[in-house]
Amino acid sequence: MAKYPDAKLLIDGELRPAENGATYPDIGPWDGEEIGRAADASLGDLDKAIGAARRAFDTTDWSTNHKKRVATLRVFADLLRKNRDRLAEIAHDEVGAPLGTIFSAQCDWPLGMLDFVLDTADNYEWEDDLGVAKSGPGANSRRKVWKEPVGVVAAITPWNVPTQINLAKIVPALAAGCTVILKPAPETPMLAAVLGEVAVEAKLPPGVFNVITSSGPAEIGEALVKDPRVDLISFTGSTATGKRIMANAAEKLSRVFLELGGKSAMIVLDDADFIPAVSRAAGVVYNAGQGCATHTRLLVPKSRYDEAIAILTQVMGSIQYGDPTAPTQIMGPLISDRQRQRVMSYIEIGKQEGARLVLGGKIPAKHDKGFWFEPTLFADVTNDMRIAQEEIFGPVLVVIPFEDDEDAIRIANDSIYGLSGGVASKSMERALNVARKVRTGTFSVNGGSWFAGDTPFGGFKQSGIGREMGVAGFEEYLELKTVGLPA
Ligand code: NAD
Repeated sequence: MAKYPDAKLLIDGELRPAENGATYPDIGPWDGEEIGRAADASLGDLDKAIGAARRAFDTTDWSTNHKKRVATLRVFADLLRKNRDRLAEIAHDEVGAPLGTIFSAQCDWPLGMLDFVLDTADNYEWEDDLGVAKSGPGANSRRKVWKEPVGVVAAITPWNVPTQINLAKIVPALAAGCTVILKPAPETPMLAAVLGEVAVEAKLPPGVFNVITSSGPAEIGEALVKDPRVDLISFTGSTATGKRIMANAAEKLSRVFLELGGKSAMIVLDDADFIPAVSRAAGVVYNAGQGCATHTRLLVPKSRYDEAIAILTQVMGSIQYGDPTAPTQIMGPLISDRQRQRVMSYIEIGKQEGARLVLGGKIPAKHDKGFWFEPTLFADVTNDMRIAQEEIFGPVLVVIPFEDDEDAIRIANDSIYGLSGGVASKSMERALNVARKVRTGTFSVNGGSWFAGDTPFGGFKQSGIGREMGVAGFEEYLELKTVGLPA
């Protein structure tokens, strides 16, 4: 039974249904039931949203009045925090987020990062003075670098941690002076629609922020990417879609900022505090494994391989899940039946490749409704197998043996991805040697956390281009204009 009112579009300051009245069902992963319906935008709706964002950028003082803009966004941030319980409830119902993830990535962490962005914008040096020099053929000139907003931003986001990713894009983009069209994943329209409602309440000027929800990603997404009025595409999602977006954006050479997939390796060296270090790899079940930076490959010394599998069998076999009210639970259902089919296909691939299914690999018997999947452990995995190379996006851990530190580094780097990873060792020197040689955008040493509002996040290789969050994530939305003045 539908629980929520229809999710509306936000176009040019107005919350409204799609122009043709179309809606589509929003399916809750806990039980597979419809939790509400969302506006299914047409190309006409998209055209109006892009036009409004363009006009707001080109003809209002949004892009130039830094103080006024940040003050407005502080109201927006305050109202978002006031809506915390609502965002939490929708994340729970729409994403299938258990409470343990609501207290972290699904709600409280992203809300906690807003002030860093707004403080960054408030204190930002919008102009660098490079001083006087004889430059070019002429006389002395004073050189300055002005930092200006890029323009109209298309923010295209996935369904796995929508509030985190929606806010990590729209708040820095808006704070930098850009105007934005947010296109969330079809699976999570409600969380995006709340941002539209709050923007209206916060009195963001019309056109500055627009929300377009739609059931079919390709038509609306492609039209948004190809539109010449859009200056920058800020995308988080799969590497396959990222490549398609880059190709489409190439026609008009729009800037692209891509946060893509990962197949991150956790390396436990032979001298590590073994039981806790190996046990941490059971964290693969966080958000049902639907995390781009999740450590989905565990690399352990060949000499201690059986010991590691025994520890993981015990820890992953005792993971509690399925209680929507338990604050300690971090594993929920998968987002959709389609995603579950995809995960199940990888179980078959793994078995056919010769990996040993130690635990899980099927739909739990006690959950006949919703999109649940058991915590799953594969042993006897080699790094050339598809289950070691491809992103499964489910609660599936593969364990790979290595000979020595250099072999572990080689295996970790033998991937098209380079998003994250980690190492555990009693020797900081050995751990840091590994950290320096693994080619990823983020890395954890002995359980240290790199994730925060002020830390840049992003990937090497096919995990992306650019950085989200931190000052770097703010500067993604700026252009540099170098100006010469008479000295
Ligand atoms: P996806 O690539 O299928 O879709 C992401 C977004 O792109 C959605 O809004 C979708 O509607 C839109 N889209 C799809 N086709 C499009 C097209 N042709 N043109 C324009 N837009 C299009 O990804 P998903 O299944 O929603 O999310 C899971 C993926 O996201 C995983 O691969 C995961 O690793 C990745 N992800 C990466 C990060 C990161 O920061 N690196 C974070 C979260 C998720």
